[in-house]
Amino acid sequence: MQPTASHFVNGAYLEDTAGAPIPVIFPANGEQIARVHAATPAVIEAAMASAKAAQAGWAALIGVERGRILRRAADIIRERNRELSDLETLDTGKPIQETLVADATSAADALEYFGGIAASLGGEHMQLGGDWAYTMRVPLGVCVGIGAWNYPTQIAAWKGAPALACGNTMVFKPSEQTPLCALKVAEILVEAGAPPGVFNVIQGAGLVGKALVEDPRTAKVSLTGSAATGKKVYAAAAAQMKHATMELGGKSPLIIFDDADLESAVSAAINANFYSSGQICSNGTRVFVQRGIKDAFLARLLKRTANAIIGDPRDEATNFGPMVSEEQLAITCSYIKKGISEGARLVHGGNRLNQPGAYIEPTIFADVTDDMTIAREEIFGPVMSVLDFDTEEDVLERANATEFGLSGAVFTADLTRAHRVVHAIQAGSCWINQYNLTPVELPFGGMKGSGVGRENSMAAIGHYSQLKTVYVGMSPVEAAF
Ligand code: NAD
Repeated sequence: MQPTASHFVNGAYLEDTAGAPIPVIFPANGEQIARVHAATPAVIEAAMASAKAAQAGWAALIGVERGRILRRAADIIRERNRELSDLETLDTGKPIQETLVADATSAADALEYFGGIAASLGGEHMQLGGDWAYTMRVPLGVCVGIGAWNYPTQIAAWKGAPALACGNTMVFKPSEQTPLCALKVAEILVEAGAPPGVFNVIQGAGLVGKALVEDPRTAKVSLTGSAATGKKVYAAAAAQMKHATMELGGKSPLIIFDDADLESAVSAAINANFYSSGQICSNGTRVFVQRGIKDAFLARLLKRTANAIIGDPRDEATNFGPMVSEEQLAITCSYIKKGISEGARLVHGGNRLNQPGAYIEPTIFADVTDDMTIAREEIFGPVMSVLDFDTEEDVLERANATEFGLSGAVFTADLTRAHRVVHAIQAGSCWINQYNLTPVELPFGGMKGSGVGRENSMAAIGHYSQLKTVYVGMSPVEAAF
């Protein structure tokens, strides 16, 4: 698993062992599987300089050529899905059952989608009487991507693909918890024909990220991370008037009415809390259940949760793996303790497994009230809070009483109520009778404290390019004197 070197800069692997060592731990057994080094100032300089040097040439390629390279990278990723999924599982601990369908494949989707539209990016023509004008869609320059640890391959591609499609270059810094997968994305892009310097990956923790954000050559920053980090990075970007996209955390509501299809609602609650061991930003961690089906919902939820197959994530039968790290597990355990001490009713799980690895049971609390810590703060672990409600009006007010606004969903058979409710939910992504599907065709991002900007879809193009307006005078210029 040991990569050729820690960083990928200017089209090749690059090492500098003077950087602080970063051990890569397989969370299922705590064993060290690789070691990389944080970027030194020399590595940061090399990455920024190579991205800067490559940008004009990359932008000068016609869109169809840039797009072809991205689409070729998508094909290579699909061909190597098994190998890349194995690596993602080792890097994150997520079950291979998930990584085979949700990680490298999602990266390939993004490269294919943005590769497909690179050729048709352009501006508009406006006739202004005899004069006329046009707009040009121009790249921003060097973009910095900073990733979280839950979807390392996907995050690298969700940022890299639209950035490159628009003619930017990128320096990407993965989370220090999961440094391996983004290197593969960089390697594959070069294999697909990307010129050196177009997509660089360097390792490190917050200080390396901070140096990249503050570098005067950086034109745009896209962060996926916690709200606390988002505030710091957004402020640092603003200080130099840089473009910024912030994909942050959430505490999203999943609202289930009495008339919902019970099995689908239970499936959604399971997916929205236990997929990737609950480590998903858009998770529906506040499950509001209308009182009429509360007992039936809980009974079915508990029965089905008991079927979770907790085990080695490399085993294709496993559908619930460890958390990414001991630290994240400890945070989750502290929230479970708070839930119990504040009076929530623990109805399933709650315990760390008595075996090596960062394993905790899928955990469900019932009778959760809005004021409890577990209903207010993002846990980022497999902890579901079930809250009761009576009326639509009541649940909407409570659903929106949060600093976050990433996602939300409603389960109901009533068509008009479904739309009324999602229109009222203050969140960037909403689902009706579904949860957490985020295809590349759809904008993804948060409202309120969950962030600014959008990833994916045509919306991302607006965040990785800027418009230049050109007014064309066709007549002699007149002046007052
Ligand atoms: P984190 O905020 O601790 O770290 C995110 C990244 O920021 C890491 O690469 C880290 O090294 C870097 N960083 C930290 N301080 C920095 C600084 N001052 N300047 C620049 N970079 C800095 O988040 P995490 O623990 O890695 O990930 C979990 C969080 O990410 C959760 O809150 C989750 O909701 C969020 N998340 C959001 C999305 C989304 O798309 N909205 C997706 C996945 C995860």
